[in-house]
Amino acid sequence: MNKRIHSKEVKAATMNLLKERGVSIMDVAEIVYDMQSPYAPGLKMDDCIESVEAVLDKREMQHALLVGIELDKLAEQNKLSEPLQSIVETDEGLFGIDETIAMGAVYGYGSIAITTFGHLDKQKVGIIQKLDTKHGNGVHTFLDDLIASLAANASSRLAHRIRDREENLKEEEIRKRDEEERIG
Ligand code: MG
Repeated sequence: MNKRIHSKEVKAATMNLLKERGVSIMDVAEIVYDMQSPYAPGLKMDDCIESVEAVLDKREMQHALLVGIELDKLAEQNKLSEPLQSIVETDEGLFGIDETIAMGAVYGYGSIAITTFGHLDKQKVGIIQKLDTKHGNGVHTFLDDLIASLAANASSRLAHRIRDREENLKEEEIRKRDEEERIG
């Protein structure tokens, strides 16, 4: 049977899974704030939250999260076949497929997303550090990388939005000045 799942259902499932796995939008927005505030004085947390939510509307991001979190959960329940079970459960350093799936979701957001992902993957800030399977409870072999991907995408999106906003403001200023000169 050809059953097509509505994107609203996929989005809702993704949001529920994040909550279930202990990740809030605010946790991710905090990473975005850390990444972007050095470049954007006056950056507001609301802008970071909005950007995370917008990235979560993207199918690539939803699908990557669904796949990764599913594998984490199956590993937690001991339901994967060996040797994959042991590899995922212990977050084997040379596995790399967790990063590969997460990285696949950052290409749509350009070079800032890619470089930010690389940075977050190495530095493991905020909730990413807490999720790290080797340091915390439960299996989050995939989730830590996926959160890095989500935060990296939201950071890149925000960086471009901020520039757009600045340019629009400047254009508005120029237009206003022109009009004033014309009137005066
Ligand atoms: Mg990992």
